[in-house]
Amino acid sequence: MAVVLITGGNRGIGAACVRWFLANGDQVATTYRSADPPPTPEGFAADHFLAVRCDVTDAAQVESAFATIESTWGPVKVLVANAGITRDGLMLRMSEDAFTEVIDANLTGSFRVAKRALAKMLRLHTGRIVFLSSVSAYVGLPGQANYAASKAGLVGMARAIAREVGSRQITVNVVAPGLVATDMTSALGDERIAQMTGQVPLGRIGSADDIAGVVGFLASAAAGYITGAVVPVDGGLGMGL
Ligand code: NDP
Repeated sequence: MAVVLITGGNRGIGAACVRWFLANGDQVATTYRSADPPPTPEGFAADHFLAVRCDVTDAAQVESAFATIESTWGPVKVLVANAGITRDGLMLRMSEDAFTEVIDANLTGSFRVAKRALAKMLRLHTGRIVFLSSVSAYVGLPGQANYAASKAGLVGMARAIAREVGSRQITVNVVAPGLVATDMTSALGDERIAQMTGQVPLGRIGSADDIAGVVGFLASAAAGYITGAVVPVDGGLGMGL
């Protein structure tokens, strides 16, 4: 049983990860930003689930979230840096604000939580970090200069950290989902989703559970010799790139 923190686990891929780790018997904390904390997912014990208020763009909230988890259960042994946003727009129409907001949430936000988690993992000589990147990082979807940059940045950051902390048996990996059915993609509209699904070799949109299973595997004992890897979970969409 491990103490797991999943950022942005109140919905979408993060919520599927919360359920995966709860089903695995772990103690699972997740962040939320809105007024009400998410309830314990149905069918799981309330004392295995903890919702901590935290916006990953705010270093003080990150510190306070970790302090709450540590005082409740002890140090975080598995971090899933999942929280992310899009603010799409074609390059010439993209404001600098739209660029930096996405970098701050997706890349710097992941840096903030990983740095805080590592402080304890290094002392424990164990730990697992999984960053949620995207197929957009390597195929370069139009309208996503900010998002693609943030998600490509995660790959370089993960590999740098993986080399720094490998000797302490801490693994750092990246999962790169393709098109997954969540609120983030429903904003694209049915026509665009159908067009993109047509390019997926497996011929379907992914589910949040498709991603959670791979995140869970990377945190498991079976993945103890995997670090610095980028695992595409995209139905083959980015194959060969
Ligand atoms: P959703 O939009 O469904 O959920 C995003 C989650 O991130 C929410 O819980 C949201 O919290 C949280 N979040 C956003 N910004 C912050 C912040 N500043 N601080 C804390 N929490 C924050 O997204 P998905 O579940 O679809 O995506 C999850 C991850 O997977 C993201 O990193 C995304 O980029 C990546 N991904 C998704 C793909 C897809 O097709 N869906 C494809 C490739 C990658 P709140 O509810 O408060 O807004």
